[in-house]
Formats: sequence, structure tokens, C-alpha cells
Amino acid sequence: MRPAGRGELESLYFDYPHFEPPVRDPAVVEERARVMIVGAGPVGLVAALALAREGVASILLERKDTFNDGSRAICIARQSYHILERIGAVDRFVDKSYGWTTGRSFYRGRQILEFRMPHGADEKFLPMYNLEQQYIEQFLWEAVRESGLIDLRWQSEATAIEENPDGVTVSVRDPKGDYRVKAEWLLAADGARSAVRALCGLRLRGDNHEGRYVIADVQMEHDYPTVRRALFDPASNPGRTVLIHRQPDNIWRIDYQLEDGEDENAALSEPHVRAMVGAILKEIGHDKPWALEWWSVYSANTLALDDYRRGRILFIGDSAHVVPIFGVRGLNNGLADAENAAWKLARVLRGEAGEVLLDSYSPERRGATLDVFANATKSARFMTPPTQGWRLVRDAALALAVDHDFARPFANPRQMTPYTYAGSPATCADKDGFSGGPRPGAVAVNVILGDGTWLSDHLGIGFTGVLFSPRAGAAAAMGAALARLDPRFRLLVIGAGGEGVFADTDGRIARAYGAQPGSFYLLRPDMHVAGRLLHGDPGRLVASMKTILWGKEA
Ligand SMILES: Cc1cc2nc3c(=O)[nH]c(=O)nc-3n(C[C@H](O)[C@H](O)[C@H](O)COP(=O)(O)OP(=O)(O)OC[C@H]3O[C@@H](n4cnc5c(N)ncnc54)[C@H](O)[C@@H]3O)c2cc1C
Repeated sequence: MRPAGRGELESLYFDYPHFEPPVRDPAVVEERARVMIVGAGPVGLVAALALAREGVASILLERKDTFNDGSRAICIARQSYHILERIGAVDRFVDKSYGWTTGRSFYRGRQILEFRMPHGADEKFLPMYNLEQQYIEQFLWEAVRESGLIDLRWQSEATAIEENPDGVTVSVRDPKGDYRVKAEWLLAADGARSAVRALCGLRLRGDNHEGRYVIADVQMEHDYPTVRRALFDPASNPGRTVLIHRQPDNIWRIDYQLEDGEDENAALSEPHVRAMVGAILKEIGHDKPWALEWWSVYSANTLALDDYRRGRILFIGDSAHVVPIFGVRGLNNGLADAENAAWKLARVLRGEAGEVLLDSYSPERRGATLDVFANATKSARFMTPPTQGWRLVRDAALALAVDHDFARPFANPRQMTPYTYAGSPATCADKDGFSGGPRPGAVAVNVILGDGTWLSDHLGIGFTGVLFSPRAGAAAAMGAALARLDPRFRLLVIGAGGEGVFADTDGRIARAYGAQPGSFYLLRPDMHVAGRLLHGDPGRLVASMKTILWGKEA
């Protein structure tokens, strides 16, 4: 909602563009596409870019004529910046967003916790960045415009689908009329109220949590660093919680919890929102002018599809799952879905893998959603205790945290952490007894190399092998065997330095990977570890990679 007198898209800081529908010949009523994506929200845009990176063209449908309006996602996690980097879009994000590592929790006005998210010199990006979703979509759209492989059609709505064994026919409506597109594959990125999901007769299943929050964005000159503040039981909202985030363009996000049973319509009236926001700002010492940008109400849900794949349709982003915003996981999770689906689908379309590779999409990404649910449920219980019992425990922990270190970590609304695809069919069994390092399914450890670049800078668009101090000739043999399975395979050699070898003179990189001379890691295009060998026969890993790409009968 916007203040009285301002139009739906009249933002204080963002100029919404207006996009025309595609110029097309209305006489053409049927087209063909290899991939169609429904929904150009952030997840659909990233899916299209991740496919384009692999050389796969797509048609991307969006029913609106501009970006999503209002206040939505603001916190983007490190792992998402790696995805944005891989699809060639991260620079704009780094320039505009505010990175942060620190959160502070307050109980009845007293600071009880300052926590720092894990961060070290080997990380290329900060743990978290704040950027309004309007900019997220704008920057992705700019990258789409430059890609040349994405046919983005605004004001174009998917109205019906027909599923066949070899594809999906989508009926599209735009201002010129209706037409059909026969696509080999369909990515449903059409959000929490997904039309594709409904047309398939599928439903999200799960729970609704207690507690509603008003989410208000205000513009103000406010001298506070980019630190996430959580106020428990503040004077401005007694017994409840307030969260405050800084965003670019002097915009501040204020989330405040409503009282149980509070009338939502009354709570959302402009005078009431102004009174609440004014009280919160006074409490944090802001006595200068401020302007209301937008507000809405939110309650936490943990909802997901039972299976994110249905034949030739892959559900990505909010169409597949709706997660609570505590811990900032909705968009971040969706971006990982988009990349996961795209790298696998691109290989299937190019004939470099069988459809079996796509069987791992749902277990991997649904597993990640269930992990988010588990964490978010803990956060939600702490932020908005569901029963009197939970409230007593929560309040006791907060009161103890004023004077006791041991109770302080409870007051940390958990943030997003990357998920390990343990036991996924797109990873190899871990049989070698490594003493450390990332296990198969985990995100590879980033390290800074001797030349000042990061390991992540050297990953290719295919699988990447990382070989530690190999015997003479071993690197070439291994590279050749894996390149036969993946033409985009790239090999990085870490060792004593010299021609084609990244120097690890003090053994720091080998230690991060628990590696010995001859150890080998196979990384997937999404930077997750596919498999690893402590030393010994590379043939085993080659066979495993064949199984990942082609299945057991390969
Ligand atoms: C207040 C709030 C705060 C949030 N904060 C965070 C945060 O800090 N971090 C985070 O990770 N997540 C956050 N989220 C969640 C995040 O906004 C969503 O997870 C994210 O927008 C999902 O992206 P999506 O592309 O899947 O769906 P959407 O953004 O909903 O995009 C779907 C698109 O599909 C289009 N569409 C729908 N139907 C059709 C059709 N039939 N034909 C063509 N197009 C169609 C829609 O117009 C829309 O553009 C927040 C959400 C809210 C509401």
C-alpha cells in the first residue's frame, strides 16, 4: 500500500519502467521453443540467464508491464551473489547494494547480542547484501536485454497448458490476442499464486505460523551503519518484536509484529502505520523527518509442493515453495532452484546428459526447502512464540541474555546458510575417509589464490576438477577422461606453482580441502562438490560422473 494521494507505482526512489508487449504477427498462432519460462520475477529472470550462459535460448513470459511493485525481498545471501556472478550480472548488484555482516539484538532497549556472520579473507563476497527487489529485477532485466538469447515477452500471460510426453503446449494471451507455444520444457516461475501449478491441479502443502508483521519501508536520513537490528519487547511495540534493515536510497525496512487478534484492517490504516513507525523511530533516536514509501502485512508460511518436477515441467522459486521471511530465504532459495534446474536442463537439451540428471532437481531443491523450514520454524518460534509456553521460554532466554553470554545466541534471527545435497543422485558416494574439506553435495570452499584471484573465478561453465599436487602426467590423463564426458570440463591444478599450477606454498588451500598429494575434487557447474578422491584411481570418479549424467545403465 502507498500513502493516500500516491499512485500504485509512485515510489519515492524508484522509477518503474513501462514495457510494451512483443511486436508479433497475430496471424501466427503456433510457435515452437526449446524452453519456455512463465514469470519474469527474479527467479524466472535468473533461470533464463543461467540457461543463456549455457547457450540455451528461452521464451520468458511476464503478464505485467513492469517490475514487481511494493516492498519485497531485500536481503541477498553470499551464495546468491555467486550465482549472480556466474550468470554475469553481479557487478551492478555489488555497486548498488549494502553489504553487511553484523546483527544486533536488543531486549527492552538494552543491547543483548552483537553477532557477526562467518566471513574471512578467502570469501569473495560478504555474507549478506541489502537491495530492494525492484533493483534486483531491474539489474537482471538489464542482463537479459544484453544476453541476446532470451525472448522476454511483457504483458503476456500463460492461460492454459497441455502436457505431452515430449513437451508442454502453453496458451498465451497478450493485447493482440491468443496464441500457443509448443515448448520441449517448461519452467514455472510464476510465483506463490502460480497459474501453472493450479493448471496442473497441484497444491502447496504445509503450515501457517502464528504472528503477523507489518512491513513498512520509509525514506529518511538516518545515521546508522548497515547492521540488522532486532528489538525484542521494545517500548514502541511492547511484548512483540521489531526488525530494522538499511537499504540503498535512504530507504529503511521496519517490520513490526502485530498483537494477537489485532484487527488487520485497522492496523494497516495509514494513520495507524504512521503512529507505529513514528514510535519505533523515536525509540531508536531518529528525530528528523521521514516519509512513508510503502507498507503491507505478512504472516509466515512453510508450504511446498510434494515434487518440484512433473514430467516436462520444473517448478522453481515461489511456485514450488513459500518460506517465512525470517532468515531471508525465499528469493535466495529460488535463485538456487533456477540455477540448479538450468545447468541440468541445458545438458539434457544438448545431449550431454540423460533426463535422469533432472531426477535430482526435486530431491536437491526440495531438501533445501525442508531445511529452510526447519530453521525458519525455529526463528519463527523465537520471533513470534506460538503459545504461552514458548513465550515464557523465549522471554526467559531474553531476560537471561541481558547479563549472561550463554543465552545470547538465542536472540539471533538465523540467516540463510548454503545447503548440502547429501546423498543426492547428482553427487558421488564419499568413500575415501577425508579428514576435512567440503563433502560431496556441499558448496565448495572458496579460497584466495596466490595471484589474488579466487578459486570461484576459475570455475568454468561445465564441471571443474581441482587436482592437488599431482604426479607428472596425471593431470593431463584425468583432464582428458573427464572432458570426454563434459566438453566444457576445466581442470585446475593446485601445487607448488609453475606453468598452469596455482601455487599453494604454505599448504593453506590443501588444508581447506583436507587434500593430500594427488587428491581430486570434482565440482559441479553450481559450485557444489560432485565427488572427491583422496588419492588413487581417477577411473572411479569418471565412472561416477557418467552415472550422474546418464544413470546407472550408462
Ligand atoms: C515483504 C517480503 C519480504 C521479503 N524479503 C525477502 C528477503 O529479504 N530475502 C529473500 O530471499 N526473500 C524475501 N522475500 C521473498 C521473495 O520476495 C520471493 O521469494 C521472491 O519474489 C520469489 O520470486 P519468484 O520469481 O519465484 O516469484 P515472484 O517474484 O512472485 O514472480 C513471479 C512472476 O510471475 C508472473 N506471473 C504470474 N502468473 C503469470 C502467468 N500466468 N503468466 C505470466 N506471468 C505470470 C508475476 O507477474 C511475477 O512477475 C520477501 C517477500 C516478501 C513478501
